[in-house]
Amino acid sequence: MKETVIKDKKFREMITSDVISARIREMAEKINRDYEGKDVLFLGILNGAFLFAAELFKEIKLRARISFVKLASYEGINSSGSVKELIGWNEDISNMHVVVIEDIVDTGNTLELIQGQLKTRKVADIRIATLLFKPGAYTGTQAPDYVGFEIPNDFVVGYGLDYDGYGRNLPSVYTLVNE
Ligand code: 5GP
Repeated sequence: MKETVIKDKKFREMITSDVISARIREMAEKINRDYEGKDVLFLGILNGAFLFAAELFKEIKLRARISFVKLASYEGINSSGSVKELIGWNEDISNMHVVVIEDIVDTGNTLELIQGQLKTRKVADIRIATLLFKPGAYTGTQAPDYVGFEIPNDFVVGYGLDYDGYGRNLPSVYTLVNE
């Protein structure tokens, strides 16, 4: 198995790029079937989902649009301190069928936040597509709708995911080697 070092940490290849590509094609086929005849807005969450979103979207045969948003943290004026808000969109998404594209769902907190903010915009419905899902860490109630791979509760990088900003360009997914 291939290994790579990013900064001070060693990572081992866990899901190869070929396996990832094949799985993304399967996910797209399912989405194509599920949304047949519908107009769909894909919403990629930056930064991590950019590669997955691109590869998935190429396989979508629907009448579809794609847009990217980012979760920005800012020091809120309320007592809870740091607040996260979705930024980067300016289109009207009311009554749209929205598929959120995430790189990884861990505890599910980010997902919950995104869903909450989308619901206030009165979309027709929201589904979640994620490349990776850690069921062992997930604290939400409803699992993501389209999951590429369920993985153990370990830190991973590659295919868009970073360690301290690096590793996003790795074509495979790598897991941290504990030494
Ligand atoms: P959640 O809110 O579901 O706990 O975490 C989601 C976010 O945490 C992801 O969008 C990602 O930025 C980050 N994250 C969670 N697990 C990992 C991981 O194993 N590797 C990397 N690189 N980021 C992760």
